[in-house]
Amino acid sequence: MKTIIQNEAQCKKCGDIIWSGHRHDFKSCSCGAISVDGGRDYIRRCGSPDDIIERSMSMDSYHLALTVDAAKQMREVGRNDLGIVLGVIRSLRDSNLLDLKLFTNQDK
Ligand SMILES: [Zn+2]
Repeated sequence: MKTIIQNEAQCKKCGDIIWSGHRHDFKSCSCGAISVDGGRDYIRRCGSPDDIIERSMSMDSYHLALTVDAAKQMREVGRNDLGIVLGVIRSLRDSNLLDLKLFTNQDK
């Protein structure tokens, strides 16, 4: 099962990037061509599909739970914000959700 982690779209006409933060958070771009709604519960769009660049993200619920657990564990052992982020990145790596080529020690 997948979980919506970001409900977001970009308008091709005005360039606005808009997102819906919760179930009844209906937002429109500044030119009014597109709208988003549904938050993390469902993805609803208004407007022509030709005007929408979809930017939403979903994630396997199991791996999302593992990632939340990683953040929780880092917090419980007193890690600072960077330590929490690094724990989350390691969790995403362990779930094979990262492009590891972007995380090498080489500067190119
Ligand atoms: Zn627009």
